[in-house]
Amino acid sequence: MSEGLATVAYIGATILFILSLGGLSNPETARRGNLFGMVGMTLAVLATVLGPRVSAAGVGWIVGALVVGGAIGLFAAKKVQMTQMPELVALMHSLVGLAACLVGFASYVDTSTVFATPAEKTIHEFEVYVGILIGAVTFSGSIVAFGKLSGRIGGKPLLLPARHWLNLAGLLVVIWFGRVFLNAGDHGAGMTALLVMTVIALLFGIHMVMAIGGADMPVVVSMLNSYSGWAAAATGFMLSNDLLIVVGALVGSSGAILSYIMCRAMNRNFISVIAGGFGGGAPAPAAAGGAAQPQGEVSPVSAAETAELLREAKSVIIVPGYGMAVAQAQHTVNEITKILRGKGVTVRFGIHPVAGRMPGHMNVLLAEAKVPYDIVLEMDEINADFPETDVAMVIGANDIVNPAAQEDPASPIAGMPVLEVWKARTSIVMKRSMASGYAGVDNPLFYKDNNKMLFGDAKKMLDEVLGALNG
Ligand code: NDP
Repeated sequence: MSEGLATVAYIGATILFILSLGGLSNPETARRGNLFGMVGMTLAVLATVLGPRVSAAGVGWIVGALVVGGAIGLFAAKKVQMTQMPELVALMHSLVGLAACLVGFASYVDTSTVFATPAEKTIHEFEVYVGILIGAVTFSGSIVAFGKLSGRIGGKPLLLPARHWLNLAGLLVVIWFGRVFLNAGDHGAGMTALLVMTVIALLFGIHMVMAIGGADMPVVVSMLNSYSGWAAAATGFMLSNDLLIVVGALVGSSGAILSYIMCRAMNRNFISVIAGGFGGGAPAPAAAGGAAQPQGEVSPVSAAETAELLREAKSVIIVPGYGMAVAQAQHTVNEITKILRGKGVTVRFGIHPVAGRMPGHMNVLLAEAKVPYDIVLEMDEINADFPETDVAMVIGANDIVNPAAQEDPASPIAGMPVLEVWKARTSIVMKRSMASGYAGVDNPLFYKDNNKMLFGDAKKMLDEVLGALNG
């Protein structure tokens, strides 16, 4: 493939990626957005493999790598449960970071590149240094995020004494060794500086994510998404690949916008979370101990009684959470919705921006179950309607409906906007036990006078409710 044709293919792929991002912004166009992304990626891979920069001998290696990588990807996609998606995504981000590091080291040890001027050489080495820096932070941070999301590492924030000073010292050392690297007389000295910086960057990535508490994890997930984009852009600079630069910048900036949206949804300061909990982005450990313990009696309810309450209601708001994903209850939810709407009940869904374990988690599940988009509303659109609602049905959600966020200033989730289900005439919480949610915070909602608890697996209980509604 000629240089000109490859460039045209790259421009086409870039346009498709932009259209893809545009499509993904709305559930109704998301499928088309995904398709644009797939076609764009195929075009990009073909233009790269068949392009002028890959020799005939190199094609064999690339095809071999594609087959191995593709087989692993196919296996993972088939094996992974929907509930494991967030941790898989974190693992994927770590691979982007690792790739940036490996490309950086490879391009530093590769002495075949001839630079026209010393300035060009310095610019290239700067790209290598920054690329490995971003890549290493992304790699180790994503591995820790994977551990936290999969439950292998506890959600409690690790708050080292003087941690901000440690971060600052690390930054200064990285800048110092950057100078050493750029001025290194030989490859050996340069490599030492590069290795020292890589170790510090890896430690920084671990420290940054370890310092973030369970409740702040959504921001970390989107932030690492953004970092992985910048790591890809850095790789593009090192390889002088324009498409990789553009795609990396698209992922990096959209991830940054998503992080901002997440921060706003959780009432957290963007800069403080980006800096790894600097200035109170992570909840203080004392806060958990100081939070008031909810007290009172809970009133359990049966599936048949739940069905009765739903049947008698004029308006119902369903609030799904992580438990619905675990139980895979979305199809039964849709069946119940259809029956209630058939009986003239107004049914709507209230979606919290951090419900589940990844951005848009609930929207994906409800779309899969074919719940109509127009009755699925964002938190801000529906929160004011709870006082006029007969039944708020909470399905496997906990943190996102926790009134402690508003009522208890000592709570680790204080200030986080939540769905105010307790303002409905009756709220029903469907979960298996009194256990807390991801943030590890007790929930006073369970003890409110107008709240009822439907204990059990969400799918099983909803099947029973469905049976009672049909009966
Ligand atoms: P939570 O984790 O707060 O609560 C989920 C509840 O579901 C649990 O209390 C659990 O209770 C219940 N549950 C689990 N399995 C089942 C089942 N099979 N049937 C019925 N219930 C079940 O989830 P939320 O969606 O309310 O909140 C999301 C949390 O995750 C927030 O803290 C958010 O910060 C965090 N997070 C979100 C991310 C995102 O991007 N959206 C990313 C990372 C973290 P029990 O065990 O008693 O059944």
